[in-house]
Parts: sequence; structure tokens; C-alpha cells
Amino acid sequence: MVTSRQSPNDLLAALPSADFDLLRPHLRAVELNFGQMLIEAGAPVRQVIFPHGGIVSTLARLRRGETIEVGVIGRDGVVGGSAALYDAASPSAAMVRFPGTASAIDAGHFRTIVELSPALRDALMRDLSRRVTKAEQVAACNAAHSAEARLCRRLLQSRDMAGSDSMLLSQDLMAQMLGVKRNTISLVAHALQQQGLIRYSRGRMAIIDVDGLVRRSCECHSADRIPAAPMALPHASALPWPASEVGLVQRSPS
Ligand SMILES: [Zn+2]
Repeated sequence: MVTSRQSPNDLLAALPSADFDLLRPHLRAVELNFGQMLIEAGAPVRQVIFPHGGIVSTLARLRRGETIEVGVIGRDGVVGGSAALYDAASPSAAMVRFPGTASAIDAGHFRTIVELSPALRDALMRDLSRRVTKAEQVAACNAAHSAEARLCRRLLQSRDMAGSDSMLLSQDLMAQMLGVKRNTISLVAHALQQQGLIRYSRGRMAIIDVDGLVRRSCECHSADRIPAAPMALPHASALPWPASEVGLVQRSPS
């Protein structure tokens, strides 16, 4: 039987066993595939997703058609939790930027269990607070730091979250991440490649020189690596939890 502390999702891993046991019968293992839209902006949230890994981007869409990444969610967070909690439409979209696996639960079941579990509600509030703090920091970063420094920072953040030096990352995606024009990304990525920090070809990004990227990154890089103390979730488990071992959950239809 899977216990909360064996969950690869930090938020689930931090729940008391009794609270996790309320969720467990309703959790199913799902794949997070590159480019998959998990939530559409303005649409009701039908399922709440706890990533085991990978990167989920939250995206704001502007009237002129631009899409800008306004947050990232990994194994330390939850996708759709806040909107599902209040049975509200999500103001932002959520898209998988690096593949992984996750535990998912129908929004209706999730709401019922939150009513029964103060610990789960508290974990959701802490997650929301942490995301607000991150969003404030990103707003300051966007206003104050150069596109090159921000791209270096975001590549390092993506590497940490994905656990990989290589990832699919088109120039359009990088432009979304930084909220800049594609031409700007083209110039900056070319410069980083010329300096031997990255290798970039046909939409695949490989990080070659981590230390070099750290030196060129803005100061916000250090904030990415240090969780805010009040929000730190204890008992974050590093234990693997392959979907094949989750005998009590169903794999979602592909
Ligand atoms: Zn910055």
C-alpha cells in the first residue's frame, strides 16, 4: 500500500497518513505529455493534478494572441487546486512543458475531501501562497533584469525541475517563458551558443556549461533554489513511485 511519504509529489508526501488515505482511493496515475493542455483558461477545472516530476507551465493569454508563462509547477505543487477548490474557472491555462507522470483526482472528489481534511486545505493554501511569492519575484525579475540573464536563469530552473540537461524548447516556448519577442530569443540563444554555454538545434536545447549559465544568470537564480522557509513542506520524499507499482489506481485512458 502506498503511503503519503512514498508519494513523489511533495505536497502529497507532506500530508498526514489519515488525510492521504482519504485521497488515495480516488487518485489515478496519469502521463504528462509534452505540449499537453491540462487546463484551458476560462474553462472549469475537471481534475486536480499532483505532478511527480516534469514541468507544467501556467499561461496567461492576452487579447492580441500572445501567450506568456506566468508560473511553473513541478513535483512541489498542484495543478488546478485553487480553481477546483471553489468550483471556479481557471484564469490561466496549464500546459506540460517537460513530460512526466502525476497523480490525478476528479475535481468533485477533491472538493469533498478538502472539506474533510484541514491538513489538505492548509497544504493548498501554502502552495498558493508560495506561488504568489514566486509570481511577485518573477514580476520584479521581468522588470529589472536583461533577457539574457533571465533566459540563463530560466534554463537553470528548467534543468533543476526536469532533472535533465536536455529538453525540447522551441524559440516560441522560450519567448513565452520570458514574455519577449521571438527575435530577442533568437539573438540571446545565439549568443549563449557562441559562448559555449548551450547547444541549440531544431528545437532541442542542451545545457553545456552550468557554471557559465549561473555566472550570467540574474540574482533571481538563487531564489529559485531556496524554498521560502514558511512554505517548506516537510517529509518531501525522493522515493520512486512508478505508476506500475500503484496497484490501487487506474491509468487514465490515453
Ligand atoms: Zn531576475
